[in-house]
Amino acid sequence: MIGIIGAGISGLTLAYSLKKRNIPFFILETTDRIGGYLHSEKIGNYLLEYGANSLLCDSNILDFIQEIGLAGEVVHTNSVSKNRYIFKNGRYQILPSSPPKLIFSNFFSWKTKLAILKERNVKSKAKANETLSIFFERRFSKEIVDYTLNPFISGIYAGNPDELLVGKTFPVLAEYEQNYGSVLKGFIKNSGAERRKSINFQNGMQTLPDRLASLVQLGSIRKIERIEKIIKLPNNLFQIGDNQCDKLVITSPAFATAQLLQTLFPHFATALEKVHYPPMTVVYSAFKKSQVGHHLNGFGGLHPKIEKQFSAGSIWTSSVFPNRCPADEVLLTSFVGGSQYAENALLPKEILLEKLNQELCRNYQIEGKPIFQHLHHWAKAIPQYDLTINEVYRQAEGLEKENIFVCANWKDGVSVADCIRKALHLARIF
Ligand SMILES: Cc1cc2nc3c(=O)[nH]c(=O)nc-3n(C[C@H](O)[C@H](O)[C@H](O)COP(=O)(O)OP(=O)(O)OC[C@H]3O[C@@H](n4cnc5c(N)ncnc54)[C@H](O)[C@@H]3O)c2cc1C
Repeated sequence: MIGIIGAGISGLTLAYSLKKRNIPFFILETTDRIGGYLHSEKIGNYLLEYGANSLLCDSNILDFIQEIGLAGEVVHTNSVSKNRYIFKNGRYQILPSSPPKLIFSNFFSWKTKLAILKERNVKSKAKANETLSIFFERRFSKEIVDYTLNPFISGIYAGNPDELLVGKTFPVLAEYEQNYGSVLKGFIKNSGAERRKSINFQNGMQTLPDRLASLVQLGSIRKIERIEKIIKLPNNLFQIGDNQCDKLVITSPAFATAQLLQTLFPHFATALEKVHYPPMTVVYSAFKKSQVGHHLNGFGGLHPKIEKQFSAGSIWTSSVFPNRCPADEVLLTSFVGGSQYAENALLPKEILLEKLNQELCRNYQIEGKPIFQHLHHWAKAIPQYDLTINEVYRQAEGLEKENIFVCANWKDGVSVADCIRKALHLARIF
């Protein structure tokens, strides 16, 4: 019997895959809902994503979506979402997305354009525990760090590239440098690899855990009232509350897992307690199209820290996916918080909204107030793969010999696609 801790996308994907293989399992979940950091809610005419906004799919993930019967519910991003905007010199400017666009756009200085072209010849090599900022400055330029890396890391990982480790956050970049001597060469050599697609579902990302839960049958998901410490019995079974299993899979967040493993693996628990999860407040704002001066012709606008804005940026949700708000309105999803803006996420609601609304009005030439606004606060949003994560990886080694398996977003990838990939892989080795 396999015991799975947590009914987020990792636990549910694993459970589905075990069920397919006729391997007995149960899932333990502490909350009343399933999905964890996938959480969509419809409020009036607005479809909101409190957690993940999209899923970046390769063909394996698309096959999985098809297999679980969700192909008909997939919505693809609109074509404008290939345009990514970065706030620079007081306005959103489009990030050049191809070599000719890079040469002819004014987004980067000539010094940076040359640094990009010459990256193939940069001979230096990564040192142990190199951060993303040092890696990108060494291979490209400080301007790339400030105006591309920084806003993307804060917008996508709620992180600070001065702290995140390249080898853990983007291992492929370190591999490209090591194997090809250049990041760009690595991308070119692997350019035959398929182009991934960002998707969502007609009724939001919650569709995914809901479908998986119905396929694994709700009866196999057991609600536990409180976080139990895991105990190992003399017959080698694990006991969690009233539940017993011979193999255990951890998918719960690091801070919750620390409590579970306190008795069994106190050193691992200490390492897990230290994993940094910055707070994040996600704010949804709708305006009549007639109120907004900006074209919103893209995926969204991100804020480099150097530009001293209040939020990390916004996804232009109604430009990206259809049917997220009434046709004569626009819906923006703004991210206040993450490692670089943590104090802003913790402001009282009224002050946070006042500051955000001033920023939205200024940056998007908006007149008047939002006609709908809602916020969702994550006290602990996304685990950061910074220096503290090394000890977690070290402590996790050898755990499988003890019949404990990790399939959580604090190890080997944080995205929804990573979680699905890891869970499908783990099911195959049982
Ligand atoms: C604001 C935000 C935006 C994001 N945007 C994106 C995005 O656009 N695209 C993307 O790919 N990723 C995104 N992510 C990341 C992604 O959503 C998560 O990494 C992923 O959903 C994690 O899934 P999981 O199943 O591994 O963990 P979780 O979702 O954390 O699920 C773990 C489950 O375990 C349960 N649990 C906790 N403690 C216990 C316990 N003691 N016993 C039993 N159960 C327990 C929890 O209640 C939860 O249901 C975003 C995350 C956030 C916070």
